[in-house]
Formats: sequence, structure tokens, C-alpha cells
Amino acid sequence: MYDIPFLDLPPLNGASGTVRLPGSKSISNRVLLLAGLAAGTTAVHDLLDSDDTRVMLDALRTLGCALRHERGPHGPVLHITGLGGRLAVHEADLFLGNAGTAMRPLAAALAVLAATQGGNFRLHGVPRMHERPIGDLVDALRPLGCTIDELGTPGYPPLRLRGSAGGGLATDTAIRVRGEVSSQFLTALLLALPLVSGAGDIAIEVDGELISKPYIDITLNLLVRFGIAVQRQGWQRFVIARGSAYHSPGSIHVEGDASSASYFIAMGAIAAHGGAPLRIEGVGSDSIQGDIRFIDAAVAMGAQVSSGPGWLQVHRGRWPLTGINLDCNHIPDAAMTLAVMALYADSPTRLTGIASWRVKETDRIAAMAAELRKLGAAVVEGADFIEVTPPAAGAWRPAAIRTYDDHRIAMGLSLAAFNALAGMATGGAAGPVHAPCPLRILDPRCVAKTFPDYFEALFGVATADVNDVPVIAIDGPTASGKGTLAAAVADALGYHLLDSGALYRATGVAAQWDGVEPDDEVGLARLAGLLDLRFGHGPLTDAHSSRAWLRGQEVSDQLRTEAAGLLASRVSALPAVRVALQGLQLAFRRPPGLVADGRDMGTVVFPGASLKVFLTASAGERAERRHKQLISKGISANITDLRADLEARDARDQSRSVAPLRPAEDALLLDNSNLSIEASVQQVLSWWQLRRPFR
Ligand code: C5P
Repeated sequence: MYDIPFLDLPPLNGASGTVRLPGSKSISNRVLLLAGLAAGTTAVHDLLDSDDTRVMLDALRTLGCALRHERGPHGPVLHITGLGGRLAVHEADLFLGNAGTAMRPLAAALAVLAATQGGNFRLHGVPRMHERPIGDLVDALRPLGCTIDELGTPGYPPLRLRGSAGGGLATDTAIRVRGEVSSQFLTALLLALPLVSGAGDIAIEVDGELISKPYIDITLNLLVRFGIAVQRQGWQRFVIARGSAYHSPGSIHVEGDASSASYFIAMGAIAAHGGAPLRIEGVGSDSIQGDIRFIDAAVAMGAQVSSGPGWLQVHRGRWPLTGINLDCNHIPDAAMTLAVMALYADSPTRLTGIASWRVKETDRIAAMAAELRKLGAAVVEGADFIEVTPPAAGAWRPAAIRTYDDHRIAMGLSLAAFNALAGMATGGAAGPVHAPCPLRILDPRCVAKTFPDYFEALFGVATADVNDVPVIAIDGPTASGKGTLAAAVADALGYHLLDSGALYRATGVAAQWDGVEPDDEVGLARLAGLLDLRFGHGPLTDAHSSRAWLRGQEVSDQLRTEAAGLLASRVSALPAVRVALQGLQLAFRRPPGLVADGRDMGTVVFPGASLKVFLTASAGERAERRHKQLISKGISANITDLRADLEARDARDQSRSVAPLRPAEDALLLDNSNLSIEASVQQVLSWWQLRRPFR
């Protein structure tokens, strides 16, 4: 989860492996509301955990639904005990973030419940939510007898929904709703009106053309699961039978998000060219989500897709891709991905029927046009269309992509990082015709709306030319704070971290375990070459969590002891050990980038590092820091002795023949004697900014 101001992606050149998709946002929030309204307890499997579902869960909890999280054998399960159609709480203030899938249906459900059972509910969200229309829904509900106050701009949230117990609703005449702005208004009515169907059948009629019909299919599908069969007459009239009532299905599974799948389907079409496909799990040919039809569009552009229940496999087919001309009314969200695939086509792509983009998380047509232009594409936009002409060979530019707090702009545009492949012949026979460009995604955390681990999933399958993956090398004398600085810089950039000292420390510990003498160079090198050391969660993942396992045994604390440091200093003086650890160190250089901390990072292991920093601080200052550190751990120490030790170690480190302590020739010196950690980090980050191509 990248909670940082920007994330830089190096140019990417391939994709293969398996991605497991998070649950569908549309299904998750509908299921949550249905389970919250139904009688009985529903076990929800594979629920999406994201910003939008969190606000819905908070709202349900406030309204009195009982929620219980459980870790099942196949992942987390949420048990929701619903209200059974009876309000448990009659007054509440509900914050719904920027979740349209929470705002619209909750507004409708609480409006009819307040009107009949009495209540006073205020619904509001982030500022953008207050710019997203809801007037058509208000206009549909008022003639029924619902009391709705528009607390801000008329036609937009925030809303207050009021009523007194015993009120009646005029459900005997058809309820009319407009269909052209958002299908969520019809969905909201379909989810809410069964609650008040006691008196007779309720008919809903759509005025004008209904957009995004597949989303209505999802709603109807899920209503059936909760015991309600809506009679559909074309896309114009929907009838809810008298006496309909929600019943929990007991347990329900949320399929993977088909809109989220679109990024990986596109990735496969662009970058799965090495033989192995990109496999996507969680959604497949049996999906009830309309966005699954994105596959047809991707295939039309060149993708090769095979599928089964719950899975998809994608390969590059035609390359370059072919531009298409498509009415995207049926896949409004996934269509954004097509606009980015268009960058890799040999002809322009024109997407029409996308007027609804203008009232989503942001004005998506304007945003998409502005960001694609930054990359070098020519874009024409209209009220309800976008036309993208890919950058000419050599015209790609490094760009800092604004994301407008819109997850789909961030995820979609991230695919521009595969520009290393643009213009490159299939099979890579002729090299790229342009210098691959890195890409900056501003505010990458916005993906948390629907896919909190999107970038982790991307880096799990994407490959890069190792020379394109940036490295920042940080070195300095003992107790200079380089470890702390390196970890903070890595965190700030979302990069991996290599604490190379830990590898020498672990080699020393392994030697002790196996009874290998500290001067047995051959024996130690063999140990180092086979070092089974893991950081964090997976093999060779970063040390940010600063936990380490050696041969499966946790050694986090043991590695930090003074004794391990002394051992490390001995084994690190042996050339064969240094060579043996190189492969392990090089493997840390993976997208999006690496911060490497330690002695020869900028000279031997990563001599081409894009930025090399050598920390200095006076021996007196370092002795004081070490003193503070020891005292805080409850270890008594004497500053004069510590300083003498440090000076002796500096002298030893500087004069040793193997990997002596010495700044790389092109290193920038940072004397942090009088700098806080924060100030040191800021200095390194501003040096880094100067070396990046983004302005
Ligand atoms: O940085 P740390 O204190 O963990 O390093 C432990 C020992 O390993 C130090 O004495 C240092 O000289 C050595 N070392 C090295 N090369 C590295 C990292 C650490 O020689 N890349």
C-alpha cells in the first residue's frame, strides 16, 4: 500500500505470472446493503476490502447491523446480521466518502424507511461526492412521499432523509426515474423498494435511454440471491411483487472485480510476449459483471484470451495493437483501460458513449485526455467521446501523471510504464525505437478505492530491464544513521530496501550455527552462497518490516546484536564471501526501485546507481547518538568509551584492504552532524528529484 506523494515506475518490458483479483466493488457494496437489510445472518466471502466498502460497512454498523469478521480457511469471512427491514436506529449521520455505490442505494433505502418507520438521516461525503449528481434519484423518491432535504447544491449530496413513524408511501402508481445520467439511481430504487412492497406490486419505469445496463443485471442477479425476483419488461419497466421481503441466502461469494481485471487483461495484451501468459484469478467466463465484456474489446485490439470459471489467461496476440472505434456504454469503467491500450496501437482509437465519465470520481474524459497528452499522445475529446492517437515513435515523454483522486486514472495510466515495448517488433528483434521512459504516478494511494494492493500486484507480474530499475546507494561510517536514512528514503519512494550489512551479519550467525571458523574463507563463502535469508513476508522481500528469518528461524533481534556486528565485520573482510553475496544483493534490484545501504553498494555491487550518498557525522556526534540509543534500550554506556570504539572502528574500516570505507567517487557527501533524520531524508529526496526527468 503506497501511502506516499508519488510512485515512480521504471520502464517495464514484460508481464507474466498470476494475479489474484480483489472482490468486485459493485458486488461487494450491493451484497453488504442487501445483507444489512435482510433478515438473518449472511456470511460474505471474498469481500473487497477498500475505501468504498469500508464506508458502507461503517454505515451499516451505525445503523445497527451486527458485523463479525472471521478468518476462514479460504480467506476472511464477514458475518452480517441484517435489520430484517426494520430500522434499529432512527437518527444517524453517515459519511460515505466518495462511494457512489454507497451513497445512492443508502439514500433510497433510508428515504423509504424513514418515511414509513420514522427517522432522520444525514448522508454526506468528500467534496467530490458533493459534486456527483443525485437529483434524478431525489426526483424519483419525492413523488412517493419521501421527505428529502438537499443540504448543499440542489441535486447533489449532502442529503437529509426524514419522516415520521406510520407514514405511507404512494407506491400504487409507477415510479419514474431517468436513466441517462447514472444507472445507480435505478439500482438504488430496485434495492430500496422491496422494503415497502407490503401494500401491492411496485412498478419502476425508466425515462429516456438507460445507460450502463450490465450494472442493472448485477443488481437483479443479487436481488434473486436475497429472495426477490424482479419482473423486467425490456429495460423500460421493472416490477417488484407485493410482499417481497429480503431473506439472507446464508452465505454468498463475491467474485473478483471485472473492472480491476481490465488492467491485467490489457497488461497481458501489451506485455505477455515471452511465452508464459498472464493468469488472472477471481473472475472468469461465468462472471455476472458487465465489465467482463472488456475482453471482447481487448481481443479486438489484439489480445489473446482464454478463460474458464473464475480465471482468465491473456497473451499478447497482434502487435502493435490495432486501434478500435467502439461504443462503450456497456463497459463504462473498463473502457478507461482501452484509452490507455490505445497508446500501443498502430492507429487511433475512438471511444464513444462515455458521457457518464464526466460525472464519476472526476471528469474522466478531461482527466484522461490531459494525462495521455503528457505522454505524447494526441487526444480529441467531446461531450461523450475520446479519441486517442498514439505517440509517434520517439515521441513518448516521461510524465508525472495526476490522478485526481480517481483510482481508475491511476491504475489505467500505470500501463503507460510498458512504453519500453512501444514500437518494438514482436520477439524484440529490433530494439525499441525510443528511449524507454519512466512514469510517475502522483498520489498512488487513490487506488485504495477499489484495489488497495494494485501496485504490489503490478510489480508481482511486471518485469523490467534491470538497468532501468533505479538504485540509490547509501553508505557511511558506523553509527552515522545510514540504516535509518536508507529505510526512510525507501519508504518515502515506495522502493525496496537492501540492508546489506544484515547479509554479512546473517553469514556470521550461520557460521556460528554450523561451527564454521570465522577465518575459513572457503567454508564461509559456501555458507554465504547458500544463505537462506528472508526479510519481511516473502523470499527476498524488503527489510522494511525489519524482521528477518535465517533458515526459517526468526533472527531479527540476533542480527542486531553487537556480537553479530563484530562477526560481520570479520567475515566481510573476506573477498570470497563478498563475491558469494553479490547474487543475493543484485536480486533486490526489482521494480519499482531500490535503496541499498552498505559499504560497497555504490562502488562494487551497483556501480551504476543513479544516486550515491555518503553520510558523514563527527565521531563525537555519532558517539552521542549511539549512547542515546543504548540508554533507551536500558543498556548503560560511557560516551568517551563509545567514541574511542567508533574511532578505532573507522580507522580499521578505512584502512582495510577489502572494501574499505570510502565514498564512491561520484557520491554526494551529507554531513548530518547537525541534521535531524527528517532533514537528512528531505535532503536525499531533493537530490533524487533533481535526477528524475519529471518537472
Ligand atoms: O551495516 P552493518 O553494521 O550491519 O554492517 C555490519 C558489518 O558488515 C560492518 O562491519 C561492515 O563493515 C560490513 N559490511 C560490509 N559491506 C556491506 C555491508 C556491511 O563490509 N555492504
